[in-house]
Amino acid sequence: MQGMHGYAAAALVLGVALAANGAIEITCDYPGGNVKVEKIDEAAGVVKVAPDLRDTKHKWFHFDFTLSGAAGRTLHFQFPSNSFNYLATLGPAISRDGGTTWRWLNSDGTRHEPGNAFDYTFGADENKTRFAVSIPYNQKHWDAATARWRGKEGVTFGVLCKSQSGKRDTELLRIPCRKGNAKWIFAFTARHHACETTANAVMEGVIDEVLSGSKEGEWIRDNADCVFVPFMDKDGVENGDQGKHRAPHDHNRDYTAEIYTSVKAFKKLLVTESEGKQIVFFDLHSPMIRPRGKTGSSDNVFTFSTPNPRLADRVATFRRLWAEEQKGKALVYDGKYDDGGSKRQNARLAKARKTGLQNSRGWVEGLSNCWFSICCEFGYSLCGGVFTQDGGRELGRGLLKAASRTCSQASETKLSGK
Ligand SMILES: [Zn+2]
Repeated sequence: MQGMHGYAAAALVLGVALAANGAIEITCDYPGGNVKVEKIDEAAGVVKVAPDLRDTKHKWFHFDFTLSGAAGRTLHFQFPSNSFNYLATLGPAISRDGGTTWRWLNSDGTRHEPGNAFDYTFGADENKTRFAVSIPYNQKHWDAATARWRGKEGVTFGVLCKSQSGKRDTELLRIPCRKGNAKWIFAFTARHHACETTANAVMEGVIDEVLSGSKEGEWIRDNADCVFVPFMDKDGVENGDQGKHRAPHDHNRDYTAEIYTSVKAFKKLLVTESEGKQIVFFDLHSPMIRPRGKTGSSDNVFTFSTPNPRLADRVATFRRLWAEEQKGKALVYDGKYDDGGSKRQNARLAKARKTGLQNSRGWVEGLSNCWFSICCEFGYSLCGGVFTQDGGRELGRGLLKAASRTCSQASETKLSGK
């Protein structure tokens, strides 16, 4: 951990008296923890904090810290810049039980302003509270989820590669085709950007659905090999890094250079294991922390369009089926916020290729056996509704059903010669 360890405030005039009841202390020495404490003014009740950017080259917003010693008080939390949003639309995620359960500051779904400050009143007996930019998700949460999948037919828990530091394993979950001769390979990745936690709840839902026994899940089990990499930037996730815009480039700009162990290993796996199969690829992300205006894509679920005409019809079919699937669910996906500018996308991807900063989706699209490749974004606090882990899982289940139908319908069309 590179974060603050037990930062205690310098006792101010009034603070000396308060210190008798326990001075304010901020820590982040746990997986995913991150904060830079700039100043604690106990007397005024003002806490100045900032995300610890580490090797991220731009302002970014991941923080996750625990504050103690403020029972019964109201504190003002101030982030540095007026021109940058550090808080999600609903404010910080808050846990009073050490990270087991979370709620948003504005749990009623109303927009919190401003994007760089909030006030919080601690209960009389509230001695320790955790504040985070998003609902955390790291190895502990993944391990808990895997309990649901252990013992299911064919499921294996493997390792893609060692993490960048060499200290950790990068998880790889496989659900092989039960008939053994898969015509398809479905690949799912998350956390190319370490701070983007909403993507993992969605991935859990995808896996739940594959193993659910539903018609769509069964089609996958009979026709596809599935591989899942929940943490592409494993060290970043556990260390609480931003990950996004990491120097010299982040994991999702590494598909040409391959400086990261996970990118190199994932590329190799997909090329090797997709031989004779058609690739369906989903890269799961979270967007900007909140929209610049009152509403926008960052408060929603959205997907990027493909500049590749060969894939465009399939993407359109998938989007339509997913939107149908999400109707009436807690978190809505309706396609309204999809990044539809294929011209813009074309230019972006072309530039990325030229400058050697290709992303995963673009790289997969370039493979001759790529049938479908897409990047999906899931808002941090508002995500077509107030984001919860359950809501995220439901999005994943809908996503998988839509993907399964997109492929099975195409197979049937081909077989019947339509
Ligand atoms: Zn991302």
